[in-house]
Amino acid sequence: MDMTAALFDSHMHTPLCGHATGTPREYARSALDAGLAGICFTDHMPMPAWYDAPWRMRRDQLAQYVQDVQEAQAEFAGRLDVRLGLEADFHPGTERYVEEVLGAHPWDYVIGSVHYIGAWGFDNPEFVAEYDSRDLAGLYHDYYALAEGAAKSGLFDSIGHLDLPKKFGHRDPDGYAALHALDVIAERGLSLDFNTAGWRKPIAEAYPAPDLTRAAAERGIPFVLGSDAHKPEEVGSRFTDALKQIHDVGGRIVTYAGRVRHG
Ligand SMILES: [Zn+2]
Ligand SMILES: [Zn+2]
Repeated sequence: MDMTAALFDSHMHTPLCGHATGTPREYARSALDAGLAGICFTDHMPMPAWYDAPWRMRRDQLAQYVQDVQEAQAEFAGRLDVRLGLEADFHPGTERYVEEVLGAHPWDYVIGSVHYIGAWGFDNPEFVAEYDSRDLAGLYHDYYALAEGAAKSGLFDSIGHLDLPKKFGHRDPDGYAALHALDVIAERGLSLDFNTAGWRKPIAEAYPAPDLTRAAAERGIPFVLGSDAHKPEEVGSRFTDALKQIHDVGGRIVTYAGRVRHG
């Protein structure tokens, strides 16, 4: 059996977010070529107008997004399981807005991601200089407090790219905050987005790192495989390596349909 048989890629984007290329049909085709069983689109959800607007679809584009994914779903029926999800942002003060959007359509899977510490978009290459003026331990402490807030909000199925602040090479100097966040994630019954995009970034390591993958598996937290593709050729990227990292620590892989965990 092929190593990737029956696997899903549950993290990918569409051009509606303004920084991805390729139609949903092209992502689906790429998934078929990669031998995947299914995909879940998780484009960046609309947020209030003042929050990160250039990097996501507008609220008035949401119905279009749903329709685009549903068209791909119909076109690939019987060949590829196409699911409808969102990558949501957790940012204190926006929870009610997020809740409204999550109630507007029948999502299969919702990732909760932290992309901002206060007003700083810390994963944006444009603002990478800010790392030099921060204490890394404090930064990670603040970041994981937000990740815990995301887990406790009850809005999401998984936490996106858990150790994202390492993206440009700034590693967590201690790791205690990460372990505490994993305790909360386990307690709340969430999964982790096992995100292979980290292998395409300067850190050259998936999110989460191998030691955090082990710590998550020890806590019974399952993993949802995702390439975080922003172009069709990234679908299923490095999944063989992902499987190895997860299986090495006895981790479990799951998918979501109708916001219910399977596998
Ligand atoms: Zn993106
Ligand atoms: Zn993200």
